[in-house]
Amino acid sequence: MEGLYLLARKVVEKRFPYDKDIQPLFIAELYGLLRKYKNYSNIVCDIFLQTDIFLEKKTIDEILEEHNIEAEYDSDGNNRTYAISSLGYEFIYDTDKGVTCEKGPSFIACSLLDVDLAHVLNSFVHEMSHLIKSVIRSHAIIQDKNKPEYYLRSGVSLFLYQYNIKKDIMKSCCQFSGLDEAINTVQTTEILNDILSLREFVDDRDMVKFFNDINISNMKKDCGYEDITILFRKIWCIPSFRDLIEENIVEGDIDTIIYKFNELFSDKYAFFRFASIFDEYDTLDNSMENQKIKNQMLKEFKRCLNKFKSLEKKHIKRL
Ligand SMILES: [Zn+2]
Repeated sequence: MEGLYLLARKVVEKRFPYDKDIQPLFIAELYGLLRKYKNYSNIVCDIFLQTDIFLEKKTIDEILEEHNIEAEYDSDGNNRTYAISSLGYEFIYDTDKGVTCEKGPSFIACSLLDVDLAHVLNSFVHEMSHLIKSVIRSHAIIQDKNKPEYYLRSGVSLFLYQYNIKKDIMKSCCQFSGLDEAINTVQTTEILNDILSLREFVDDRDMVKFFNDINISNMKKDCGYEDITILFRKIWCIPSFRDLIEENIVEGDIDTIIYKFNELFSDKYAFFRFASIFDEYDTLDNSMENQKIKNQMLKEFKRCLNKFKSLEKKHIKRL
C-alpha cells in the first residue's frame, strides 16, 4: 500500500506544489480513492489533476456565484448542502444540429462553514467518488426529430433530459439517485477507514499532524442520508450483492446490474422496485398513510435481502 501513498503524494505535489498546508488532506483523500478504485488509478489521478476545487468558508451558493458557475443542483442530501460536484457536461439544442454536448471544466465545491476536518475529508471523498463513477459511459444523446433526449450517468443514477420541440420545454427526471447516494455514502466511509491505515506506516511530520488534528471517530461514521444508509448497509454486507454493484459501477454497466438482479428474482421489474425504495423512503414523513407505504417498502427490501442471503448460503455450501 506504500506505493499508492507515494503515488498520491506525487500527484498532490504536482497539483498543489506550493500549498503545503493543504497537501496532507489531499494526499489522504487520494490514497483512499486509489485503494478503492485500484483498477482505475488513471481516472482517479486525471480527475484530481483536472477538476477545479473550491474549498471556501462560504455557502455553496456563494461559492458558485463567485466562480460564475451556473449549476442546477438539488441539495445533495439533508446534511450535504455543503458539497457538490459536476463533470461539466453542457448540452445545447439547436434546430439544425439537434442536441450537441460540450465538456466544460469539472468542479467540486465544498463549503467550510461549520464543519470539522473529518467532514471536509468526507465531503471531498464523496464528491470525487461520484465523479470517478461518472467518467465511463458518462452520457448519451438520442437525436429524435421531435423529442431529442440526452442522459447523464453518475454511478447507478441516470438523469434524463427530454426536449419537446413543439412545446419548447425541457423535461427532466432522475432514476436510481437514492440508491446511488446510499452506495456512495457507504463507499465513502470505507474509503475513510482505509485512509486511517496510513497511520501504520507514514511518519511524515505533516501527515502525522493531520491525523492528530482530525476527529478519528467522525471519520468512521456515515455522513448524510442516514435513513436509507442504515437500511442499505444490511444488504451491502452481502458479498454477492456488493460484487454485482462494485464490478459494474465504474464501468457504467448498469444494464448488467439490472439484468442480473432481475434474473435472480425472475422478475423484470425487481431491480426497479428495489431501487425505488431508496429513491422514495426518506422523502416520506411519518404520517399514518406514509408509514403504510414505508412498511410495504421494508417488506420488499426484506424480500430482496433474504434472496441474496440464501444465495450466499448456497455458495458457501458449494465451497
Ligand atoms: Zn452525493
